[in-house]
Amino acid sequence: MGEQNNQDTRRRIAFVGSECYPFVKTGGLGDVMYALPRALIEQDCDVRVFLPKYACIPQKYKEKMVYRGSFMMNLCQGGREFFVGIMELVMDGVIYDFIENEEFFSWGNPYTDLFADIPKYSYFSKASLAAMNFMEWTPDIVHCHDWQAALVPIYLKTHFAPTPVGQARSVLTIHNLRFQGICGIPHMKYWTDIPGYVFDYPYMKQGEDDANMMKGGLAFADCITTVSQTYAGEIQTGFYGERLDDHLRYHSGKLVGIVNGIDVEQWNSETDALLAATYSEADVIEKKKANKLALQEKLGLVQDENKLVLGLISRLTNQKGLDLVNAILNDIVDDNTQVVVLGTGDPNYENSFRYYESVHKGKVCAYISYNEALAHQIYAGSDALLVPSLFEPCGLTQLIAMRYGTIPIVRETGGLKDTVQPYNENTNEGNGFTFIDYDPSVLFDCINRAKSVYFGERERWDEMVRRDMAVDVSWKKSASEYLDLYKKLKG
Ligand code: ADP
Repeated sequence: MGEQNNQDTRRRIAFVGSECYPFVKTGGLGDVMYALPRALIEQDCDVRVFLPKYACIPQKYKEKMVYRGSFMMNLCQGGREFFVGIMELVMDGVIYDFIENEEFFSWGNPYTDLFADIPKYSYFSKASLAAMNFMEWTPDIVHCHDWQAALVPIYLKTHFAPTPVGQARSVLTIHNLRFQGICGIPHMKYWTDIPGYVFDYPYMKQGEDDANMMKGGLAFADCITTVSQTYAGEIQTGFYGERLDDHLRYHSGKLVGIVNGIDVEQWNSETDALLAATYSEADVIEKKKANKLALQEKLGLVQDENKLVLGLISRLTNQKGLDLVNAILNDIVDDNTQVVVLGTGDPNYENSFRYYESVHKGKVCAYISYNEALAHQIYAGSDALLVPSLFEPCGLTQLIAMRYGTIPIVRETGGLKDTVQPYNENTNEGNGFTFIDYDPSVLFDCINRAKSVYFGERERWDEMVRRDMAVDVSWKKSASEYLDLYKKLKG
């Protein structure tokens, strides 16, 4: 290993996380786990991505995996042993190591319920580090993502400290602080077998009886990042801090915000085979009409290229500002305005959008499902995309929208604030329409401002469309910020 290090100055980065496009994705974490490793490879890093080998991974990928080895690993108190298989797949220079274990990963979906997920991700975190040692591949940095991998920094400084991988530095990225991996201390203690002092207040302990994986991971990580600068500040306040604001303020010296990008090949209107018509900045205005007509036809909406189509692509949860949308949907929709919703989640939101579809037939479509292809078609066929989130660590949908020449309408929070410059009608600058107060009437005003430019000053709207397509939303700049950080942590 030492010899290899001398000859090779490339940084070795291990990614550990619970989802990654195209194998399994439920939200933005899956996109980042796909795109950031690819961007780091461009910057001459050596990257391996560690993922659970879930049953739901499409067969075509499973067939391409190659067996790298297997071993038994202690996990729980009392030394229960578990099988760890390593199945490997190489795609575009990135090595994906899937951790195989039937007992933990044979369910259809990645996430089940927290009681079952705590053992599952304890196993996964420990097995990923054990697999690095097994393969004799020692990373410089282990980059962990969200609560599912938050035990990794703890394991690195406890069980694995005297082993080769113990030399690595850890980075823990918060993609969404709302999810933390909390359960009773005895359950966590049993499954993780982590030393007793880690269950004290400075680390995992929360309230009287609970252990919190995220809290412990934040304390043990060498560096904490989150996915925008604004969110990095927000999570240190009571409103956004999800009960960890004081803990984060205490650790703020090692907390930085680095905004997400998107993979500009995966999201490329010039080559996107899922679109009715591909387009570039030069012909977006014409071709968007063709995409709009195709979308309207597919979704049973009145076909008319002159109508304003507002898209919404989202997990249906209260994080996403859907209460605001629900409160004003009847007023947004009119003879010239249509709304398309793609999402799944909370049944209350699913049902309310279905209801609006039924009362506004031909003007509203509620497509209650997860559908990657339709998402592409909505990004291309809509004129504007609604992202009125209550909180938004970064948000990717506004970035994808801009890349597809679709104007974002966003609340100024987290990454939405950092990535969408408000339209200024005096200077004719900006990328989208924004609002601040979490209030339905304020969103309504904001949408009306967008409508008045769309219907009254189309030339200015079209200029904004082209301006948005020209914005650099790629990973390039942010990936080099991560690389600088890795270098600072391990010179
Ligand atoms: P979050 O991670 O909070 O869900 P982001 O904006 O960071 O939100 O990322 C959402 C990602 O998931 C985007 O790539 C978006 O296109 C995709 N997405 C969300 N809901 C759906 C859906 N129902 N069908 C297809 N893609 C979806």
